[in-house]
Amino acid sequence: MKFGGTSVADASRLRQAARRIVERAEEGNRVVAVLSARGQTTDELIRHAEEVSPNPHPRELDMLLSTGERQSCALCAMAINDLGHRALSLTGSQAGIVTDTSHTRARILQVRAERINEALDGGWIVLVAGFQGVSTARDVTTLGRGGSDTTAVALADAVEAEVCEIYTDVAGVFSADPRVVADARKLAVVSFEEMLEMAASGARVLQLRAVEYGRTHGVRIHVRSSFDGAPGTLVVGEEETMEQPLITAVTHSTGEARITLLGLPDRPGIAGQVFTALAEANVNVDMIIQNEPESEGASADLSFTVPREDLRLARETLDPMKDTLGISTVAEDPDMGRVSIVGAGMRTHPGVAAKVFSTLGAEGINIEMISTSPIKISCVIREDDVRRAVQALHAAFELGPGTIEPEDPFTSRVPV
Ligand code: ADP
Ligand code: ASP
Ligand code: MG
Repeated sequence: MKFGGTSVADASRLRQAARRIVERAEEGNRVVAVLSARGQTTDELIRHAEEVSPNPHPRELDMLLSTGERQSCALCAMAINDLGHRALSLTGSQAGIVTDTSHTRARILQVRAERINEALDGGWIVLVAGFQGVSTARDVTTLGRGGSDTTAVALADAVEAEVCEIYTDVAGVFSADPRVVADARKLAVVSFEEMLEMAASGARVLQLRAVEYGRTHGVRIHVRSSFDGAPGTLVVGEEETMEQPLITAVTHSTGEARITLLGLPDRPGIAGQVFTALAEANVNVDMIIQNEPESEGASADLSFTVPREDLRLARETLDPMKDTLGISTVAEDPDMGRVSIVGAGMRTHPGVAAKVFSTLGAEGINIEMISTSPIKISCVIREDDVRRAVQALHAAFELGPGTIEPEDPFTSRVPV
């Protein structure tokens, strides 16, 4: 069971989470619960760090950020103890979560679940601080924003759990962010493939790495509300999804930035040097577009997007390379966002891209960059246009409730 930040934000919610955990245990289950930091705690800790240092040391930042989820676990253990059960809170390190050494965005390498298993055998409810682990160099690491989801999925795999329940502040995975589209539809099931694309294109509800981990290790993930008992959304293998609607969801993200390298020499190896340098600096590059020069020997333009918080790092990496590579200008645009549509049915239906572009065009929204996969179309647009774009696409593809009825073989027959 994993509880997100809103679900443990204050004392009454924390006690409510404790009661849900205890209920599950009283049904006869062995329970491991992963908790996130309370409310905006992680953001506050980042602010504290930036107040004392403009560029906080990543190792120390991880030391600081990991405390948020530890607080939640200790408090929840107290609440569970008061309900007459024995709860044991553990840090990520104590729980045996071993990661690589890339601070603030570490990857889980291994889960050594002996201590958790021993505690479960001893009748304890185990609470694990999400979003963190210990690196192979024995330092505390964190797993990137939203990383408690990945902790939960990795632990579910390690203890061979029946299910990994992700309790959050919405009722499941929706056809669009329910905070942006009022009539977004809750999906009963979604395939790992679609959920991967959704997570990669901004649906915050599950961290991308959690979905990857779940798919690789075959973990059953159930996203549901922490405020009521209704079933939420099951993430399942593609063969288990019954219907394959053309479009499953519209997703969006804000907080992106675009960098354009103008006057790039048109020579083999240049793009390799640019992106190797960015990768070594740990800049997360996403959509990439290069314009080929019209005549041989002329220069090319190369644009790509990065998360806005990586912009400074990208600039610091590229500026010193300008002269050696012969780049004339490094231009940046910090206010970009993205809207995407995702659907497995897209594979076999032409015309989806045309409909996306004309829908945005009719709204007067300019498309700055486009990228596609077999089941996704993404458009980079201005951040200010994102909300309107999501609403327009959700309506154009009729994703609201009641628009996708399960087929009934009797009523769908053409009347004679
Ligand atoms: P938690 O703190 O529980 O981890 P998050 O804030 O990380 O919660 O993720 C839940 C949020 O994801 C929701 O409040 C919702 O606004 C957002 N969200 C974005 N896209 C979707 C979607 N397609 N379905 C459900 N929620 C979404
Ligand atoms: N507390 C961390 C964050 O805010 C991790 C999480 O909530 O999953 O990103
Ligand atoms: Mg989250």
